Amino acid sequence: MNVEQIYKDADALLEGHFLLASGNHSARYLQSAKVLEYPETATKLADALANMIREAGVEVDTVCAPALGGVLAGYELARSLGVRSIFVEKKEGGMELRRGFEVKPGEKIIICEDIITTGGSAVKAAEAIEALGAKVVAFASLANRGFCKRVGGEAEAKPECKLPADVPLFSLADFTFEMYAPDACPMCQEGSTAIKPGSKG
Ligand code: ZN
Repeated sequence: MNVEQIYKDADALLEGHFLLASGNHSARYLQSAKVLEYPETATKLADALANMIREAGVEVDTVCAPALGGVLAGYELARSLGVRSIFVEKKEGGMELRRGFEVKPGEKIIICEDIITTGGSAVKAAEAIEALGAKVVAFASLANRGFCKRVGGEAEAKPECKLPADVPLFSLADFTFEMYAPDACPMCQEGSTAIKPGSKG
């Protein structure tokens, strides 16, 4: 399966001149929500991710996603694995389970995101779940931005990665983009202006 081509076909892998949340500039940007616009594509990606998790022999009771970004990917992964799907939501300084969702002590949980960048939200979700006595057995994402090491991937974990080194990350592909500080950006030097993509505009 050519994951990068699926992202391109869905207009989820953008090319241009982008201002990232980190303040750096990049010529490529992953608009992760777009790849889940068509449920058929979401199902195909989640099935492939579920196969990786099964082949690794990871036992899982429940998939938990950090809202909002991870919810669709988490739901599809849960369907592919035949387990239940829950999500945690932001609160001051972390995340929490709401809406009557519960986990049991010892319950085996996969934290699922659409994309793992440094893994900050995934770690907050894991902390919320483990505070309730459940066990995070793996992290999963459709796309890995290349800061963290995924099972079977070539990219090594970078210092920015917040995921614990002793819990596996399953992801379909690494999307490692060149990033530039604004004053060292070749596109800026050619006179173009970086635009801010993402969820807020
Ligand atoms: Zn630039």
